[in-house]
Amino acid sequence: MADQQALDEVVEFTSDLIRIDTTNRGGGDCQERPAAEYAAEQLAGAGLQPMMLERTKGRTNVVARIEGTDPSADALLVHGHLDVVPAEAADWSVHPFSGEIRDGVVWGRGAVDMKNMDAMILAVVRGWARQGVRPRRDLVIAFTADEEASAVDGSGFLADEHPELFEGCTEGISESGAFTFHDGAGRQIYPIAAGERGTGWLKLTARGRAGHGSKVNKENAVTRLAAAVTRIGEHEWPLRLTPTVRAAFAELAALYGIEPDLTDVDRLLEKLGPAAKLVEATVRNSANPTMLAAGYKLNVIPGEAVAYVDGRYLPGGEDEFRTTLDLLTGPDVDWEFSHREVALQAPVDSPTYANMRAAVEEFAPEGHVVPYCMSGGTDAKQFSRLGITGYGFAPLKLPEGFDYQALFHGVDERVPVEALHFGVRVLDRFLRTA
Ligand SMILES: [Zn+2]
Repeated sequence: MADQQALDEVVEFTSDLIRIDTTNRGGGDCQERPAAEYAAEQLAGAGLQPMMLERTKGRTNVVARIEGTDPSADALLVHGHLDVVPAEAADWSVHPFSGEIRDGVVWGRGAVDMKNMDAMILAVVRGWARQGVRPRRDLVIAFTADEEASAVDGSGFLADEHPELFEGCTEGISESGAFTFHDGAGRQIYPIAAGERGTGWLKLTARGRAGHGSKVNKENAVTRLAAAVTRIGEHEWPLRLTPTVRAAFAELAALYGIEPDLTDVDRLLEKLGPAAKLVEATVRNSANPTMLAAGYKLNVIPGEAVAYVDGRYLPGGEDEFRTTLDLLTGPDVDWEFSHREVALQAPVDSPTYANMRAAVEEFAPEGHVVPYCMSGGTDAKQFSRLGITGYGFAPLKLPEGFDYQALFHGVDERVPVEALHFGVRVLDRFLRTA
């Protein structure tokens, strides 16, 4: 059981980490180093030997290993990123980098994404040092840079350049799971992430015959591009139910006492009401046109036109995504990935999933645990290259009115002290018995 000092420290660490501004605007100007030094110091205080690793000066990652009692057991990776997305102070009720604790709530950028989890990890392992606890499996603790941009200075760098630090790791846990989802009718749902859609950001290029805007031109690049963009934007992607989403439907249907009729998913989503949010973005691939660029003068037909599309594909859905894009763009428009990240799928019948579920249920007996697939992505994508299966498990018990999804990257991001205490208790329980 987590002790009182662990409960006090998680609050102190969350607040301290928020005060260390690690804003990542994506241009490479973020400096995670002070936050990394802070985390390393707390790990060293727990008797561990943290390593600091940088691909780029100031973009620091921290990795430490806790030796388990069973050397034959696979290791478990526990990771959290140190950077945060930008925050405009003028929009906030409390300064986003104050880490202020007001009326039992810790305020600031990173309070839920994800300095809270970083602080929980630190508080738990320090508690273990005081209590002489050793986990069964080896635990690899990693605090990463650059998750909010490309991860090239963070988890991507660690996975590619330092795979030896993750030796034996078969599974990992990190952000975006086991938070309270209030359905508005009194039910408290705890979604655990067991999958992520893949990222397929596309660049479309239409080529044609440049010429005078007053002449006949059947090879107009702008017309060709516009047609392709329209076809993509209006395309109805077919339903594709992955194992994680099927399991989510089964759990939710049981919770709501309705038939899990997967032959009519739209009707099923309707019946689930607000809880449909947990599944609706992950029942199909998607592709949304977002940017257009062409031409330089009104009476000149350009020879080329370019568009960008934010595409996301389900686990197992990349081939269909590619062939569909070939068809939708047609012969006159080329497309390529400007950025591509894999989709992930984790089993929900694994002992690790069962153990995460049991840990949540122990401290939130009124809660209902369901698996879900994330519509976006995390550092788990990079670590998957090392054969590590990723789950989203950063437990937080949130009161009604705290909309986790809205706080994530949102204005007035904040976390109740009680939520952090719950997180430490659940994480401690899970990691001890993992
Ligand atoms: Zn995050």
